[in-house]
Amino acid sequence: MVRYTYAFTEGGRDMADLLGGKGANLAEMTRMGLPVPPGFTVTTEACRAFLATGSEPPGLAREISDHLTGLERAAGRRLGQRDDPLLLSVRSGARFSMPGMMETILDIGLNDDSVLGLAETSGNERFAWDSYRRLVQMFGSTVMGVDSGLFEDLMARLKEARGARDDLGLGAADLAGLVEAYKELIRLEKGEHFPQSPAEQLRRAVLAVFESWNGERARLYRRREHIPDDLGTAVNVQTMVFGNLGPDSGSGVAFTRDPATGSAGLYGDYLPNAQGEDVVAGVRNTVPLTGLERLDPASYAQLREYLGTLETHYRDLCDIEFTIERGRLWMLQTRVGKRTAEAAFTIAAGLADEGLISPDEALARVSGDGLARLMFPRFDTSAVGEALAHGIPASPGAAVGAVVFDSAEAVRRAAAGEKVVLVRQETTPDDLPGMVAAQAVLTSRGGKTSHAAVVARGMGKVCVCGAEEITVDPQGRRLTVGEVTLEEGTVVSVDGSDGAVYPGAAPLVDSAVMRYFETGAVPAGLVEAVAGAMRRADGVRRLGVRANADTPEDAARARRFGAEGIGLCRTEHMFLGDRRRLVEAMILARTDAERERALDALLPLQRQDFTAILEAMDGLPVTIRLLDPPLHEFLPDRTELAVRLAAAEARGTPPGAHDAELLDAVNRMHEENPMLGLRGVRLGLVAPGLVAMQVRAIAEAVVERGQAGGDPRAEIMVPLIDTVEELRLVREEVRQVLADVSKESGVSVDCPVGTMIELPRAALTAGRIAEEAQFFSFGTNDLTQTTWGFSRDDVEAAFFSAYLDKGIFTVSPFETIDRAGVGRLVEIAVAEGRAARPDLKIGVCGEHGGDPESVHFFHAAGLDYVSCSPFRVPVARLEAGRAAL
Ligand code: ADP
Ligand code: MG
Ligand code: MG
Repeated sequence: MVRYTYAFTEGGRDMADLLGGKGANLAEMTRMGLPVPPGFTVTTEACRAFLATGSEPPGLAREISDHLTGLERAAGRRLGQRDDPLLLSVRSGARFSMPGMMETILDIGLNDDSVLGLAETSGNERFAWDSYRRLVQMFGSTVMGVDSGLFEDLMARLKEARGARDDLGLGAADLAGLVEAYKELIRLEKGEHFPQSPAEQLRRAVLAVFESWNGERARLYRRREHIPDDLGTAVNVQTMVFGNLGPDSGSGVAFTRDPATGSAGLYGDYLPNAQGEDVVAGVRNTVPLTGLERLDPASYAQLREYLGTLETHYRDLCDIEFTIERGRLWMLQTRVGKRTAEAAFTIAAGLADEGLISPDEALARVSGDGLARLMFPRFDTSAVGEALAHGIPASPGAAVGAVVFDSAEAVRRAAAGEKVVLVRQETTPDDLPGMVAAQAVLTSRGGKTSHAAVVARGMGKVCVCGAEEITVDPQGRRLTVGEVTLEEGTVVSVDGSDGAVYPGAAPLVDSAVMRYFETGAVPAGLVEAVAGAMRRADGVRRLGVRANADTPEDAARARRFGAEGIGLCRTEHMFLGDRRRLVEAMILARTDAERERALDALLPLQRQDFTAILEAMDGLPVTIRLLDPPLHEFLPDRTELAVRLAAAEARGTPPGAHDAELLDAVNRMHEENPMLGLRGVRLGLVAPGLVAMQVRAIAEAVVERGQAGGDPRAEIMVPLIDTVEELRLVREEVRQVLADVSKESGVSVDCPVGTMIELPRAALTAGRIAEEAQFFSFGTNDLTQTTWGFSRDDVEAAFFSAYLDKGIFTVSPFETIDRAGVGRLVEIAVAEGRAARPDLKIGVCGEHGGDPESVHFFHAAGLDYVSCSPFRVPVARLEAGRAAL
């Protein structure tokens, strides 16, 4: 028999797949002896069964009622009974934390009858009615589907009528009236009464939590976070404890360290006389934990102790939710907390220093994505001028964008290519699409634990919250700060690292981490933590890291960033600008003599290019790819040229001979599918003299660098090979040129010759190709295009978002390597290539070389190195290290 429920006393942290993160950790805390209100967890398996069949899995009701009996017996109270009723919370909690994305319903068990009992036993009438109105609102919106805004409107109107500033200004009678109004609202909206039966409340609440797994915002969040859609959520049913019992009660959120910066010391927000959902929702302004220390030193001391216990137990930053009921502290949730990239590095280094984790664990806890974020530019604080406002720096980074005041507008403008900053009083889960679309999120209310802060941190999005000087007017689509008014569309700059908001677009400078990589500046603080992680990664990684660089400047930068050579030096950029004329002459040449003249003119220029790059990478391998793109890319655009000629004709000026010739060539060389046309090695085999010129330039550059006392290590790479025959022909030509140059210069030049593997046929015949190739480099961009049959330039706009929506893939195969398809070809080519030539060097030079997940795949596939853009080199080094752990 499948079992669908576990008491908190039965579970543990290693059961998160089944119990969800929240349930597993509630069980863990229970086991650790921390004060957790008793309860039980309905498994994710039950949720999956429910979602698959649309009905409650058999036996679940029975299990729930058994657990309930146990809870009632332990508490000496019965669910919803008139005197001293037991109340429950019903809480969602999936395997991966999805803050605020699904539903939680508090105070289950209250009805018109038991509310009176609760008032009596607690001696606090206001509290009883406050709890009841919360239940009716949460149940009404979550379970029954009434728009939650309608409840809020009623509440707002009542507060206004009473002149109350916040919910605390409403008395017991007000709240009792509100309950009636809420119930009436539900009846009008849904034609159904708010259920008075506690058992029915409980049952429907559990099913509603199941259903919230497929709610729109939960789905959006999962897509964004690449969480699979088929996990389902667990449901935690827990005895209520009450933070809204009066001034000696309250609820809060705490972190064992600062989740924004990672600095040691408790961090959190507390809200007296409130239930927990108020803290995150920002209904009133919270106080920092130091405020709690003043209000209730005993509970604070206990909280401190528990947080210490948790951090030592989990050996990581933990965040917790707690409630104090009349001076008694209860732990309601813990998890390993989300954190900014800065905090991730700082905390990992801190815990390693304290000996709580090993250096390898510290490395495992940081990420290449985080490192990339730390390399983004910052605002130049010496040049920004006066800030418009200051808030709490909740998620770091520098963002510039036009202010917008609702999620839909943010999405609209972002879709049109505009950068926007979403400004809200506070955010709710409904703002998620806008938060995703915006560069930054700015709120006027809420602390580091508010919804905006938590979600933005999770997404790595810039966030400043609680900027109280700002008055947000969403109806008027403007904000004001003192005398200043900003209409929608006005550009601001948001600094998530110090909380400042500047008018206009503030100038940017390199971040500290970037300066460190650029200059090797003495590390301190965050940079020290980053440097430590890099050292460890370099110490353990097996994969080499090279850079894709076409200029001496890029080569030098890549080297500073730790590149161990160039994995891809493209030569096409070297044919642009002034040199285009020479390429044109080569293409248009009618005689061998004309062509040779054009090639002779290109030769010294190419030689200079290579000399400079070999110098910048002295002593390290430089893989130079022979010309790859179709030649007509160097000719004028066909339409443009035709228009020019037509215009000339209309003016009565006959086209010049050159233009006519050009048009003729352009027409002749036009291809419907240039990416699959005359390019790569095909070009070298068809355009006479081109390969010889390029190889000669490389060889002569090697001679020149050698004579200058350098250590040049050029490698020649042939693109777009389909069959070994192509490579054999090119290689013969290369050999001839190298022999010629050796003879002429008296220096023996020997450059390894290898090939790109970027067509499925090449991958499938890699064993044959390896007979002629001294190295392979996977061109995963083309390999992805040709394996999937996707034109990269067309498909992303055409249908990728639909494919992502439909879950056909969760990430573009151009971003992260498709292991099952493209990856399989890589594996075949590695195996067969090495079988044919055991010392075959194998790398990858597509964009995937700098993508963290892909780096892990390349490590596992046994490649020798990855090559990526210079700025991604540190990311690849770090991930290559993590892959080796
Ligand atoms: P989320 O996953 O969105 O944080 P939770 O299930 O943690 O949702 O519930 C939200 C809040 O409800 C919690 O922060 C907590 O303060 C409050 N809450 C949940 N269960 C209880 C309970 N048993 N007693 C008191 N408050 C509770
Ligand atoms: Mg919670
Ligand atoms: Mg290619």
